[in-house]
Amino acid sequence: SGSKRRKVSDSMPFSFEQIGGQERAKQELIEALDFLVRHEELSKLGIRPLKGILLTGPPGTGKTLMAKAAAQYTDSIYLAASGSEFVEMYVGVGAGRIRDLFKEARTKAKKAGKESAVIFIDEIEVIGGKRDGGQHREYDQTLNQLLTEMDGIHADTAPRLLIIAATNRKEMLDSALLRPGRFDRHIGVELPDKKARYQILNIHAANKPLADTVELEKVAAESFGFSGAQLESVMNEGAIYAMREQSEVIEEQHLAMAIDKVMMGEKTDREATK
Ligand code: ATP
Repeated sequence: SGSKRRKVSDSMPFSFEQIGGQERAKQELIEALDFLVRHEELSKLGIRPLKGILLTGPPGTGKTLMAKAAAQYTDSIYLAASGSEFVEMYVGVGAGRIRDLFKEARTKAKKAGKESAVIFIDEIEVIGGKRDGGQHREYDQTLNQLLTEMDGIHADTAPRLLIIAATNRKEMLDSALLRPGRFDRHIGVELPDKKARYQILNIHAANKPLADTVELEKVAAESFGFSGAQLESVMNEGAIYAMREQSEVIEEQHLAMAIDKVMMGEKTDREATK
């Protein structure tokens, strides 16, 4: 339905080990996921199934990575969508897309012989923003459809569904989304501290030839305030500078230039959106 094709990720399994830092968030997420894995025990005790997890935090901090890792940890299929894909001029189209997404998750899981599916919805605030006096009727229908689908998730019928949503604007969300049985588990992801930046740099240096003199600890110290996505860029840009200078290894100065470039890039981005 509709012309916008959703990117269904059939990407390689992605594990928590490939996410640097975020120790507390990872631990909280794994605890929550154990609810999904141990569903039989829970239902014996009459514990309400976990249906929705909300990941909050700044852009580029690994929310998408966490959702992918959650899918692999629970041996689920993974489907991803973004809130903006459900915004349509015509009433009912967005709601229809939500319905299709849930249907697709169930079909795909069955086909793959999996007992569960993880649906990741990025930018949830686009469909789940606070309702203001009934002005956005189309958004309301889309949001209502999402709520209906979530209310229809049952713990004891396979495939079980887990919805992971992400936002960097939690305060904008409609309270209907946050009620028990919906997105009632919130996990905050943060910008990485120095130690986490070091871990992230190491992850993204794994497939790159670094000069022996490069100290990633120093790079971590110099990239204060960078997100995981920006650190990934630093490693990538550093490699590009090395290539330009026809160097076979990435030297300290290449990474220094890359840090500057990523920092400047951020500034121009910000100025452009002013
Ligand atoms: P957005 O809110 O902008 O969608 P996000 O929080 O979902 O961002 P991701 O898409 O998960 O961020 O991260 C983007 C890229 O940045 C990842 O593909 C990865 O290369 C890198 N990255 C971000 N955080 C981490 C991390 N903690 N460890 C390793 N790599 C990371």
